[in-house]
Parts: sequence; structure tokens; C-alpha cells
Amino acid sequence: MSEPVTAYLGLGSNLGDREDNLDRALALLAAKVNLEAVSSIYETEPVGYEKQPLFLNLVCRIATGLSPGHLLQLAKETEAGLGRAASFVNAPRPIDIDILVYGNRIIETQELTVPHPRLKERAFVIVPLAEIAPDLVVPGLRQRISCLAAGVEGLDGVRKYKGGFDVSAIRGRAL
Ligand code: AMP
Repeated sequence: MSEPVTAYLGLGSNLGDREDNLDRALALLAAKVNLEAVSSIYETEPVGYEKQPLFLNLVCRIATGLSPGHLLQLAKETEAGLGRAASFVNAPRPIDIDILVYGNRIIETQELTVPHPRLKERAFVIVPLAEIAPDLVVPGLRQRISCLAAGVEGLDGVRKYKGGFDVSAIRGRAL
């Protein structure tokens, strides 16, 4: 492990008990990384493959000494732990975890593209991210997240569902 890096993750669920899936995923993540902040939960219309249930989405800020590759591994283990089987792109899922931002790094490998390539056009990511990181300027994007949120398409498909999780309670449970 090296010096902690601040990273942002995007979580989404549209199968089963969606809120519980988000809660359990956060607790699994918090057992391995420092969970610092969690946005409100938003209910959002599916993008891409539209004949599927509405999603619940949130984003969180973490600090971690895990490398990007190990963080991706943790994300995949967490998805698998919640019963996500390999399926097709944009399919319904109990949990999806994306690495949105990893410090100021720009990463393009076969496995990982960070910052997430579709971050700026996804209202279901930008809106919750603007809540916890309005002043963040994502590497490679010139505008602050709050500016991107003001202009992103699809805002009407993103509705606030519930206030954020209690971060200290999740961290306490993860110990
Ligand atoms: P998905 O079906 O959307 O969860 O896509 C998962 C795959 O996307 C993973 O197997 C990753 O290798 C790849 N991937 C590329 N960039 C990212 C990223 N920033 N965050 C998460 N997965 C990524």
C-alpha cells in the first residue's frame, strides 16, 4: 500500500432490494478503504438498455492506498459478493460499481479507463457527484463538477430519493 489517494466511486442498483444492496456494498467497501463521504440516493431512469427497472444511484468519496487495479478488484469482489453474475452491458444488476476518479491520475489500460469515460454525460453520476464534490475538476475535463451538473442532459431522469447514508454507522458496521 502507498500514500492514500482520494477516489470517487459510482454505485448503482436496479435489482432486488436496491437500497439494501447499496448499503451492503458500502459496508463491504468500507471494510477495505476509508469511506469519507456518501451522496444522497437518487432514483434514475436506465440509460442504454431502457426496458429495465429504475436504478438507485449514489457516489462516494474514499481514501485508499490500494492501486487502481486493486481498487477495481475490490469493486468486482463487492459486486460478486452481492450476487452480480457476469451479464451483458447495461443489464439490470443488484450492484454496479464504477471507479469515477482516482486522484489526478489518467489511466487507460485494457481493464480500466479512469476518469470514467462516460462520467460527464451521465446525469446519474454528475448530479450526486456535484453534491459531495462541487469544486472537483476531474483530470481531463476543464469544468468543475457543479458546472457540468448545470448543463448535463437527462436531469429530468434523476430524482432525489432519500438523504445520504450515515457514513459513521456504515464505517462502524464494517469494522
Ligand atoms: P460494467 O459492466 O459496466 O460493470 O463494466 C465492467 C468492466 O468495465 C470491468 O470489467 C472493468 O474492467 C471495465 N472498466 C473500465 N473502466 C472502468 C472503471 N473506471 N470502473 C469500473 N470498471 C471499469
